[in-house]
Amino acid sequence: MTDRTGHCLCGAVSFKAKNAGSEFGTCHCKMCQRWAGSSFSGLHVATADLVVSGTESISVFKSSDWAERAHCTKCGSALWYRLTAGRFAGSTSVAIGLLDDTQGLTLAREYFVDYKNSANALPEGRKQMTEADMIAMFTSSDGKA
Ligand SMILES: [Zn+2]
Ligand SMILES: [Zn+2]
Repeated sequence: MTDRTGHCLCGAVSFKAKNAGSEFGTCHCKMCQRWAGSSFSGLHVATADLVVSGTESISVFKSSDWAERAHCTKCGSALWYRLTAGRFAGSTSVAIGLLDDTQGLTLAREYFVDYKNSANALPEGRKQMTEADMIAMFTSSDGKA
């Protein structure tokens, strides 16, 4: 168990996830795809262990009878999926992309794999570009890297 910090794209919302485990899950359900733009990878933390700053910039969408999803009203970052009723109430899945450091995190399980978007598959031989490659592409005169 460790504490992990993170923030949204614009920085209006920041948080500390206390007592977080090292395993995370990825959900492929259609709701997550529409909400997060792709599958959603979240780190489970107890809702009581999530200390949040910038709550005035958070909008919450009740996506089902048992859960809600939060996003930043300024930059649109998907923040977390929170279970509010039922057996797992009191649990929040924080988007791992918001974390300042993901060192030591392991993908432990995938949910709704029958809804997995085939576009999420990582084909062999795909082009892989580093930050330097991306900057070179965006700043080159012909747009090619
Ligand atoms: Zn933001
Ligand atoms: Zn989902």
